[in-house]
Amino acid sequence: MAKVHTIFALSSGHGRAGVAVVRISGPAAGVALDRMAVPRPKPRLAAFRRVRHPETGEVLDEALALWFPGPKTETGEDMAELHVHGGRAVIAGVLAALGGIEGCRLAEPGEFARRAFINGKLDLTAAEAIADLVDAETAGQRRQALQQAGGALARLYDSWRADLIRAQALTESAIDFSDEADVSAQACEEARALVARLLPALRQHLDDGRRGEILREGFRVAIAGPPNVGKSSLLNALARREAAIVSDEAGTTRDVIELTLDLGGAPVVLSDTAGIREAEGKVEREGIRRAVARARDADLVLWLMDAADPQPEPPPDLARDGGGMLWVLNKIDLLEARAGRMLQPGWLRLSALTGEGLPELTRAIEGRAAAAVGSSQAPVITQARHRQQTEATVEALETYLSGAAADLELRAEDLRRAATALGRITGRVDVEDVLAEIFGRFCIGK
Ligand code: GDP
Repeated sequence: MAKVHTIFALSSGHGRAGVAVVRISGPAAGVALDRMAVPRPKPRLAAFRRVRHPETGEVLDEALALWFPGPKTETGEDMAELHVHGGRAVIAGVLAALGGIEGCRLAEPGEFARRAFINGKLDLTAAEAIADLVDAETAGQRRQALQQAGGALARLYDSWRADLIRAQALTESAIDFSDEADVSAQACEEARALVARLLPALRQHLDDGRRGEILREGFRVAIAGPPNVGKSSLLNALARREAAIVSDEAGTTRDVIELTLDLGGAPVVLSDTAGIREAEGKVEREGIRRAVARARDADLVLWLMDAADPQPEPPPDLARDGGGMLWVLNKIDLLEARAGRMLQPGWLRLSALTGEGLPELTRAIEGRAAAAVGSSQAPVITQARHRQQTEATVEALETYLSGAAADLELRAEDLRRAATALGRITGRVDVEDVLAEIFGRFCIGK
């Protein structure tokens, strides 16, 4: 077996800080403490230590040192932590000193989490959730990631997979007992009944309106409309900072500008798209193409109109039912009071300039976002990867149910495919190909 390296990394943020946490994991973690933070602290108790260079004995810092003997640790290996002062020279000195110890090297991105997975401390959904927890920007995202990190999603997939494995075993026993027609038929029937019960639950899990994915990635709102209706001004007003180019010249917002807002715990990603109209320049045409594509993919389109000349008809490729679009009449500050009559039912009134109508618009967006992410306590699909494998499972089970029951070998194969697809979500079956992708998303030190 290849020698396991001991890995170390700065696990707290980069840059100057009061405290920096250096984590060490692997067989030489204890030795590293013995050489740099003598004497090795008692297990799981913080101790004050002078951190010394292992060769020169120079004091690098005064720190809190912790020793966590494996396997009851986060990675399942021996682990140590040094809480040093968060200055660049201190961190650089400690990391360089660790690098000089036999068998120790700097960790790669996600390597701590990867070791935790390999040592059975985490399933893949929990590992993904830890990355999401670190990235979480809103309370809703935090709750969802925490629930998933706690294993809620893994328990659901594992319970389904256990049912599938049971159905598979029944089908295989039907094959073994195929010369005893009664026994065989009964096992078959039991397997079918199991699958028939499971399939609706899987379908319901898939039919979730992408709630978990929207919460994880953000509820996408595209601000669209003809040039000069005030799209950039609205984005600025919403952000309360200058995030977009505001200009009198038509068609200056050539590309897509984005910003994320926290509306009631749901992340809302707003994008200002180029003015939609016949474009002349090549650059502008490209901008408009992207804008239309962005608006088409959005969860909600704000169709902005100039109160002086409202154009309530979005281009056909943007048209969608009322649920996905809000009509917003902007520049109402330029209108006489009588012009209020122009307002059609359901249209929102706005002045991006004075801010009038902005709270109502924000509330409307927040309401749509809240409806899209839901408030269910049940664990939901949070990643396209889970969805693909769940779809593959459903597809295999549909083949199973529609195929001839008498073809036992084929039916057993359908079940095997279904169980494998589900197992790939949590990493219970071979997933070598997805590991790099998943753990590559982590930063160093996780
Ligand atoms: P875009 O092309 O749709 O992004 O439009 P801009 O945000 O660049 O706005 C075009 C012009 O309309 C700018 O001069 C803005 O200052 C002005 N404008 C935007 N919103 C309002 C508004 O509510 N009231 C008034 N009076 N002018 C506005």
